[in-house]
Amino acid sequence: MAKTQTSPTIIFIFGGTGDLAHRKLMPALYNLYLDNYLCDKLSIIGIGRSEYTNDSYRQYIKEGIKEFSRRKEEINGQWDVFSQFIEYMRLDLGKNEAYQSMADFIKKKEEDWKAEPTIVYYMSVAPQLAPTISQKLYEAKITTNPAKSRIVFEKPFGHSLESAKELNTILGKMFKEEQIYRIDHYLGKETVQNILAFRFANALFEPVWNKHYIDHVQITAAETVSVEGRGNYYEQAGALRDMVQNHILQLLCMIAMEAPVSFNADEIRNKKVDVLNAIRKFNKTDVYKNAVRGQYGSGWLKGEEIKSYRLEPNVTPKSPVETFAAVKFFVDNWRWKDVPFYVRTGKALTEKISLITIQFKPSPNYAFPKEATETWRPNRLTISIQPEMDIRLRFQAKQTGPSMNLQPVDMVYRYANEEDQPEAYETLLLDIIEGDATLFMRADQVEAAWEVITPILEIWHSKPPVDFPNYSPGTWGPEDSEALIAQDGHHWVTLPIDEGNKKVPK
Ligand code: NAD
Repeated sequence: MAKTQTSPTIIFIFGGTGDLAHRKLMPALYNLYLDNYLCDKLSIIGIGRSEYTNDSYRQYIKEGIKEFSRRKEEINGQWDVFSQFIEYMRLDLGKNEAYQSMADFIKKKEEDWKAEPTIVYYMSVAPQLAPTISQKLYEAKITTNPAKSRIVFEKPFGHSLESAKELNTILGKMFKEEQIYRIDHYLGKETVQNILAFRFANALFEPVWNKHYIDHVQITAAETVSVEGRGNYYEQAGALRDMVQNHILQLLCMIAMEAPVSFNADEIRNKKVDVLNAIRKFNKTDVYKNAVRGQYGSGWLKGEEIKSYRLEPNVTPKSPVETFAAVKFFVDNWRWKDVPFYVRTGKALTEKISLITIQFKPSPNYAFPKEATETWRPNRLTISIQPEMDIRLRFQAKQTGPSMNLQPVDMVYRYANEEDQPEAYETLLLDIIEGDATLFMRADQVEAAWEVITPILEIWHSKPPVDFPNYSPGTWGPEDSEALIAQDGHHWVTLPIDEGNKKVPK
């Protein structure tokens, strides 16, 4: 994060009364303010259609901060000053007048501040609205200075390769690419950013970070929550679109990318696109062999009854939509030839966990007596992204005692308290204000990610599943997911076992 304060800034939050603004964006801005990143020439404008006064809107935001901010106890400290930066505008974003009101507001601020502010337009609205709003912003001529205005798009960006391309083309006609910030909030997480530091700031790992030493890589992004009433959205999405196309492929890129020559936004993004382009595209047989889909039925999870996905509101009774996906990818380049990357994600699973595992090849153990090697385990690096935040390296050590017996032990780097860590949205919002696009998805990156999953989507669409629902809540998904990795002689690195205070992956 930058250490200096930002320059004068106006942030328009379209959908300022919605869930994302309430739970994430406003608490993140408040924390940035508490950390002294935001300058006093600041305006945060929530825009929505509901009836609020400035005061009642501030009260609503305050409640959100109290409930969702990582630093709830400080709400009374500086809230009174911060709240004065927040205003509410009741506008219908489908109407041209809304944009005239914004233009007038900007002009007034420029006069008051005697400065040209950075202006952020944040699309915290349903994605279908984004093209209309973009068009109207453009027509109102309030995004004309690419160095000072930024337009932020939430996920999902497109629904398919074609729709993402179409959206990119439309936006490309109106805005410069450097004005467009496509959010993948995973990339703002401290633990994810640390992957780059870990890989490229340590001389130790780079020489072994390749097919010669790494046996395989696993990425798990598991959720315990079910669809929880969001059937409307999920019926259009599914696990592959919702998690693999964006978060998981981005994590894969961070693990697989070549060393950048600088931390320039385009340099990092070029290296990531190279990985996406190198991922082997699936043909029909590959989809059957290397991709598994699942959908949860009714059951119990941690003492709570979960009803089947197909019984969720707004879900069709025979829905073919997957709530679980596991895929084996290959990155066809020199570094990663024939190294499998197993990824999986799902809802209503045993644990909420995001974990990356780098499994090294076994070392020759000829020198040791047979009994010494019974507990022999190859080295493994485990990067826990959430909710645990740590990196652990497993290596072999001698058990204390007279004989040469070995045991695997973990060397652990654990992050400080969660409350001390900036939330992903804090990092991302500050980067947007400062104009640093490194952690955002470039047009070609989004399209390359869609290209990876499109063949799977197409085959799955043409062959509806016959066995859904095929897993119970509180499990690790369908049996085929275990088979996908077991057929190569591996197993998923799964739930951390709580050993006192220590979480140790199996
Ligand atoms: P939401 O439905 O809670 O909020 C949308 C807001 O837009 C509402 O306040 C609504 O009043 C407002 N709105 C709709 N039409 C409008 C119009 N014509 N004029 C003015 N205001 C209008 O949605 P959300 O959950 O906050 O999600 C917003 C975006 O963020 C979506 O694209 C979603 O996919 C994405 N997203 C949300 C989350 C999350 O945690 N909520 C996480 C990741 C991505």
